[in-house]
Amino acid sequence: MHTAEVIIIGGGIVGSSIAYHLTASGCKDVLVIERETAQGKGSTGKSMGGVRAQFSTPVNIQMSLYSIPFYASFDDLLGYPAGYRPQGYLFCATDEKHIAYLRTNYQKQIAMGLKDVRLISADEIRGMFPQLRSDDIIGGSFCSTDGFVDPYSAMIGFMTSAADHGAKLWKNTQVTGITRDTKGIAGVETTRGTVSARKVVNAAGAWAKSIAEMVGVNLPVEPLRRMLVPTEPFDQFPHSAPMIIDMSNGFHFRPEALGFLLAWNDPEETTGYKMDFDPAFVEKILIRAAERVPVFENLAVNPKRAWAGLYEMTPDHHPILGEAPGVPGFFLANGFSGHGVMHAPATGKILADLILTGKSDLIDTSLLTLSRFAEGKTIHETAVL
Ligand SMILES: Cc1cc2nc3c(=O)[nH]c(=O)nc-3n(C[C@H](O)[C@H](O)[C@H](O)COP(=O)(O)OP(=O)(O)OC[C@H]3O[C@@H](n4cnc5c(N)ncnc54)[C@H](O)[C@@H]3O)c2cc1C
Repeated sequence: MHTAEVIIIGGGIVGSSIAYHLTASGCKDVLVIERETAQGKGSTGKSMGGVRAQFSTPVNIQMSLYSIPFYASFDDLLGYPAGYRPQGYLFCATDEKHIAYLRTNYQKQIAMGLKDVRLISADEIRGMFPQLRSDDIIGGSFCSTDGFVDPYSAMIGFMTSAADHGAKLWKNTQVTGITRDTKGIAGVETTRGTVSARKVVNAAGAWAKSIAEMVGVNLPVEPLRRMLVPTEPFDQFPHSAPMIIDMSNGFHFRPEALGFLLAWNDPEETTGYKMDFDPAFVEKILIRAAERVPVFENLAVNPKRAWAGLYEMTPDHHPILGEAPGVPGFFLANGFSGHGVMHAPATGKILADLILTGKSDLIDTSLLTLSRFAEGKTIHETAVL
């Protein structure tokens, strides 16, 4: 019979960060269970790797205020690379409503202690990137400490460091059930046998709903396909560029290797476990790319290199963190709605605090409980890309 103090279901970046933060707090008897033969085959390996503090709700800003400095010192702290590149996020507004929205968010971000964000004029944007079509750009906001990480490296760094301090990772092992007794959670059933534990964490990403169902918890987390298109090498736009967001339609892009990575949230996409890349998406995104960056008309794209992955959406685009109501010992770290890489460090810290001490000072955890949906206390995030 195997035992652990804490079992984490899912070895993506969230489960790995929780394992790291638990071991860093002295809890070493941690078992991470991953059904795939390698880590990163869920959403983490498909991510665009963007990290930003430019959000509209205080709790998301707070999560980033922990996570981005954490990524900045990741290599020194853990001894493994996370590939943090502080190249910024630049939001380009084309409507007075966008400007008002960015100004309101900016004021919140500054009030909460973000130092590197500023509102910028259309002329400054034109000066920074004359390659952008800017006749309709009327201003924007830029934060220089926003940027990118390498999600795969960060995940491996978290897990390797946790393992260095005693945690175990079982790969190629699926959790098939969760057992309970009169005291609460008793453990998990897996394709490798039963493991007993009083604390079990659901870190199963877009598959979290089915894990929660194992203990009768209804988790409002739905998978939503997102597609990314990498370009072939391209040098007619600077590679020092930030993530640039065209607020007129949500198209955004960032430098990646010798080319660029293009993203756009197709409003026609519907929920479901759709993992295949739709080749028709290439034309849709290239139209938007060339509209905003005329030299992108010259981009070459190999659709075979493009990919699709899953966002794990909640109704209010905020994660669900903490112990599930009515199921003591069953912890949730789910529903990141496309922000799980950038918020993995804060999530790991919050979950480790909640598991080990029952509370966390990093955020007001009552805001992100599962019960907010039943109680009508949702907090809507509008700065979703
Ligand atoms: C195209 C795309 C772009 C994105 N861009 C960004 C971005 O720029 N910035 C950002 O912050 N986020 C981004 N995201 C979102 C981010 O990738 C996710 O929020 C994050 O990876 C979630 O991490 P996770 O560990 O919760 O989930 P995952 O990485 O999916 O890990 C969950 C793991 O659980 C395992 N699992 C599931 N069921 C079981 C079971 N029964 N037993 C054992 N194991 C199980 C799965 O195999 C999987 O490995 C993007 C996502 C996509 C798809």
